[in-house]
This record gives sequence, structure tokens and C-alpha cells, in this order.
Amino acid sequence: MRYISTRGQAPALSFEEVVLTGMASDGGLYVPETVPQLSHDDLAAMAGLSYAEIAFRVMQPYVNGEIDDETFRTIVTEAYATFSHDAVVPLNQLDANHFLLELFHGPTLAFKDVALQLLGRLLDHFLKKRGERAVIMGATSGDTGSAAIEGCRHCDNLDIFILHPYQRVSEVQRRQMTSVLADNVFNVAIEGNFDDAQAMVKASFADQSFLNGTRLVAVNSINWARIMAQIVYYVASAVALGAPHRKVSFCVPSANFGNVFAGYMAYRMGLPVERFVIATNANDILHRTLAANDFSKQELKATLAPSMDIVVSSNFERLLFEAYGRDGAAVADLLERFQVEPTALADAPLSRLREKFASHSVDDATILEVIREAHHRTQEILDPHTATGYRAAERERGDATVPMITLATAHPAKFAEAVVKAGFPGVPLPPHMDDLLEREERYTVLPAELSAVQQFVVDNRR
Ligand SMILES: *Cc1c(COP(=O)(O)O)cnc(C)c1O
Repeated sequence: MRYISTRGQAPALSFEEVVLTGMASDGGLYVPETVPQLSHDDLAAMAGLSYAEIAFRVMQPYVNGEIDDETFRTIVTEAYATFSHDAVVPLNQLDANHFLLELFHGPTLAFKDVALQLLGRLLDHFLKKRGERAVIMGATSGDTGSAAIEGCRHCDNLDIFILHPYQRVSEVQRRQMTSVLADNVFNVAIEGNFDDAQAMVKASFADQSFLNGTRLVAVNSINWARIMAQIVYYVASAVALGAPHRKVSFCVPSANFGNVFAGYMAYRMGLPVERFVIATNANDILHRTLAANDFSKQELKATLAPSMDIVVSSNFERLLFEAYGRDGAAVADLLERFQVEPTALADAPLSRLREKFASHSVDDATILEVIREAHHRTQEILDPHTATGYRAAERERGDATVPMITLATAHPAKFAEAVVKAGFPGVPLPPHMDDLLEREERYTVLPAELSAVQQFVVDNRR
């Protein structure tokens, strides 16, 4: 198995190379050249297996023999042993045929742990094998930074530098990053906004000469290994509800489209999925594209579901590649036009997408209403991201005899602001984190200047 670029120009890569590489050199994203298949019997045989075992079976073909089975099994087992629930991603029944898939039992209470616990270990494995070290740089306004830090804190061959805008992330989110005191973890508070931090990371990737040859690695959701890790919970939850003997549908609170694209991959591997419902907040490019063929950028809106605040959905390109029949030139042309002006998909690809995907957009007032309504009906307090999913799942349910699985992407304690606004006293942090606000913190405040940040990286990497 090789990995190819969605824009058709970059060289094909091995699994190892694709894990160590972010964006393809032609500006595209890497996808597997062929999709491994899970037969009816393969799926049936997964009933009752542990999450780690299902994870091994789903991901093993993508690894392509580049890690021996025993080592890969150990990596997977260790990654998911960090979750605080024995089921790793338990299902919680909401009504007769609507289920919540709780993806928030990892170290940082959001679904990004599922991918980043694995990615950190994969990177460390390959770097060790090569006798190399690497530097991770990322900018965060929330969930990704803490999940990346937790995923890399035990990695001997990685140093991680996460930039956040000084005094502009919530206390819980900041402390989840800054209270990790490992020797290879560096938190930098930038005297500027998120865009300043992001611009410095982008500039560092564009010109890596300041690192004198040390590899710089991206852990954002364009990394194929993140998608691969997320395929697993679609398979595991569907099997728990009776796949392959019956179909399920999924509803996914979406932003960069990495999560729901992983679901689509599960479907392409052979999982019987009736439909995917894409939930967005007011930043609704995905919904506008599917519902009205309006594929255009709009100004960023700050919402109560901040981890879904995006202008462009980077992983949507991977789905467009499939919808356009894997025609890299057509994808490149569409995305180049999209960068400069409002555009639209061609008819045939759009109708292909509409066969499998529905969408719904949920504004802030509705998020609060849904948190109250869901609590009234189920006694559950949903986080604001999951609330968009709950509403979208109900509105776009389709065939009501098919079980609907809504992905709960974060624990409500992580987004207490919305929960309090909805009229609840708040939600306590889970027991393993209840001393978070007392833990010692470590971070460095730096001006929003590229040279200062790069000097800090050079001085501190090991
Ligand atoms: C990142 C994130 C999302 C969006 O996921 P994508 O893969 O970018 O679509 C949704 N909810 C939460 C809580 C997140 O952290």
C-alpha cells in the first residue's frame, strides 16, 4: 500500500513517510492508494473484542507491514490504556434508537486524544528506528494543543512546542497544556492572537532552515495517521450495535472534516452505513456546500462551540478527491479557484456526496436550547459541540429504524461557559483531573515575533 496526494503531483509515499510528512509537496493531502476491505466475516468476528484489538485489526492493513504486528499491537494497547473508561469509547443510549458515542474519556477530555495518543507513539517509533529526533510545532486555540502535548509527553525522540495566544484561551484549556511538566514539552504564550501564533508556525514550516536539518513535524488533522486512528471507533460502535448484520448512521460535529472523513473511510472499507449527518455551528461552510452548493469562505464567527470555529475545512479535500473520481487535477483546479473566489462543485460530484451525506447548521442560541432540551429528555449534559450533533441528528435522522450514533466530541466540563449559559451550575471535572486548577504550570511568554519564537525553539530543543 502506498499513499498518494489528492492533487496528483507529489510522489507516492510509504506509511512511515506519510506519518512523518504533513502536507504533500503539491499542496494536497495524502490518502491511501487503495482502500483495504473488511469483509462481512471480518466485521462479524469483531463482536465482543476489546477496543485495542479492533483498533489493531482495522489499522493493520494501513501500516502495511512497516511495523511488525507485535510491536504495533503494543503501541495500540498502550495508546488506549490512557483512557479512563474500560470501553475506551462507550456508547450511551439517548432514546429508542439514538446513541451517543462518548469520545471524551482520554487524557484531555476531547476526541482528539483518540488520534494523538496513537500518533505520538507512531512518530516516536519511526524516529527511534531511524536514529533521528524531530520537533513538533503547533498553534492552538484549544483542544489540539493539549491533546498533542499529552500524546507526546513520553516520546524520547520528540520535542513539542505549542503556541497559544497569551490570556486568550480558557483557564481549563491553558492548564491542560501548561501543567504538563515533561522535559520535552514547551508551552509558549504569544503576545498576540491565534492568527499571529498560527502565522508563525506556518512560516516555520515554510522555511525550516532555523532548525539546521532537524525534522519539523505537523500534528494537525492533515496527518493521515490521525484519520486512520479515527476510523476505528466508527467500526467498533457499529459492531457493538449489530454491524455487519444491520446498518447504522452517524452524526458528526464537524470543522476540519477529519472526523467525519474517517467515518467515510470506514464505510468505504465495508462498514454498512446508511448516512452521515454533518453538524456545523454558525461557521457552516460544509452545510452551505452540501445544501446550497455554496463553496465559499465566509468570515470567522466566534461561537459557543469554539473547536468548530473554522473558515476552511481542510480535510474536505480528501472527500472531494473521491467525489471527483480521484481526479487530482480537477481537485487542484477547484481548490485554487476556491482560494480566490466563491465557487461551486460540479453537478456529478455534488450528487455523489448528497447520496451519503446530509448536513445541518446550529447557531449559538440553538446550542443553548439543545443543551437544556437534551438534559430534560435524557438527564445528560452535552458539551456545546455535541449539542450541534444532537440537533442535527434529530433533524436529519432519515430512516428511524436505523440506529443513529451521534459522536460526543468533548466532555461538558471542558466547555463550562456554554453549560453555565444554558442555565446549569456547571459540570465537575472528572476525578482524575479534579486538581487541575491547583497544579503547577510552566510556560514562557514571548512577543509575536518569528525570530524570538524560532530562537526559543533552537535554544530549548534537546
Ligand atoms: C476538533 C473538534 C471538532 C471538529 O473535528 P474535525 O475533525 O475538525 O471536523 C469537534 N468537536 C470538538 C470538541 C473538537 O475538539
